[in-house]
Amino acid sequence: MTIKIGIDAGGTLVKVAYLDKEEIQFQTFSSQRLDQVTNWISTEFSEAEVCITGGKSELLSKQLQISAQTIVEFEATCKGVGYLAEKQRLTFNNGFIFANVGTGTSIHYMKDGKQERVGGIGVGGGTLLGLSYLVSGETDYEKIIQFSLQGNREKIDLKVKDIFEGAVPPISGDLTASNFGKLSGMMAEKPSDADALASVIGLIGETVVTICIQVAETYQTSDILYIGSTLRSNSILAGIMNSYTKLRGKQPFFLENGEFSGAIGALLSLDE
Ligand code: ADP
Ligand code: MG
Repeated sequence: MTIKIGIDAGGTLVKVAYLDKEEIQFQTFSSQRLDQVTNWISTEFSEAEVCITGGKSELLSKQLQISAQTIVEFEATCKGVGYLAEKQRLTFNNGFIFANVGTGTSIHYMKDGKQERVGGIGVGGGTLLGLSYLVSGETDYEKIIQFSLQGNREKIDLKVKDIFEGAVPPISGDLTASNFGKLSGMMAEKPSDADALASVIGLIGETVVTICIQVAETYQTSDILYIGSTLRSNSILAGIMNSYTKLRGKQPFFLENGEFSGAIGALLSLDE
């Protein structure tokens, strides 16, 4: 039997979705090790029908021993998001914005099954890894997330209420006035690694959400869906994005296995 495999080869991670006994299975590899992807396919499956998407799709398809189809990334991601959202029975109001928080962040508007890319920023999972390394020396994603869970942003991030000091602020006092803003002028005590890591994640989450809120306002929708491997086992980032989106008056959504949207879209496109 020929196995069907969808692959999303991104800047940092290669996400794979394949069908086994009617069920979608998932695998992840490092984008630095495309050889592991090709070895895995050739040892696990005797025959495979493959569709690849993502920035490294050309590079990967050249290395594969079998011929593979390719699909434009935004089209694949949109297809996968649609599939997972339906599976999770999500319903949206006048379309929705979705942000793919990958190495960088790509932002899209989706309505009636059609997507439009409406923006993007260089702040994303690559920023999380890079800034975390700068502040703590740690390079392992899982460890960074574990440490950050023990951290506290209070000593680092300046809130609106900290500036107003008891007076009634014109906007919510709980909004961040300045990420990392408490550190300047009081350098005496260097924050702990855990605190710094929590603030790095805060900076990334709040920046992504802020852009998404503005895009949602432009497109007159209240619904924002967040995907991408940066949210993988990352309850601290998801928590910040969830509460900050709500604080700004919009409705956040997260997808189970959302990081595999592109790979699922590539897989589904093999049936067409
Ligand atoms: P891309 O499609 O650009 O490769 P992803 O959606 O796969 O992006 O997200 C990559 C980000 O996911 C990384 O920058 C990192 O923050 C996070 N991440 C999650 N798991 C891992 C992991 N095992 N190794 C490295 N980064 C990981
Ligand atoms: Mg990607």
